[in-house]
Amino acid sequence: MHELGITQGIIDRAREAAQANGALRVTDLYLTMTPAADFSQDSINMYFEMLAGDDEFFRGATLHFDHQSVAATCLSCSDEFSTDAPQPVCPQCGSLLVRLDPDAPMVRLTDVGIDDGTED
Ligand SMILES: [Zn+2]
Repeated sequence: MHELGITQGIIDRAREAAQANGALRVTDLYLTMTPAADFSQDSINMYFEMLAGDDEFFRGATLHFDHQSVAATCLSCSDEFSTDAPQPVCPQCGSLLVRLDPDAPMVRLTDVGIDDGTED
């Protein structure tokens, strides 16, 4: 259930970034997920709707997901590689005993689209 806290964090950061840029409301949130995330983008969408669905500042905002690889180490043969698979397989020996970089971010807010009341 920690997606709730993660989604709230994304909303808070998006609001701060948008308000710092004089936004009337947020139109788009751009997120990058990695295989280190133990949740799906569907659950982020669901919590976003739950937390921000009634918030005028986020009304109609769209979440855009991008996926990024993370560093991984095979625990069987020590091969190091990068992967964007949630269940990575070692490319050297085929082992499923793969450890993802523990410092890899699960999800990051990379950009925010805003409506600042001006036509473009
Ligand atoms: Zn291996």
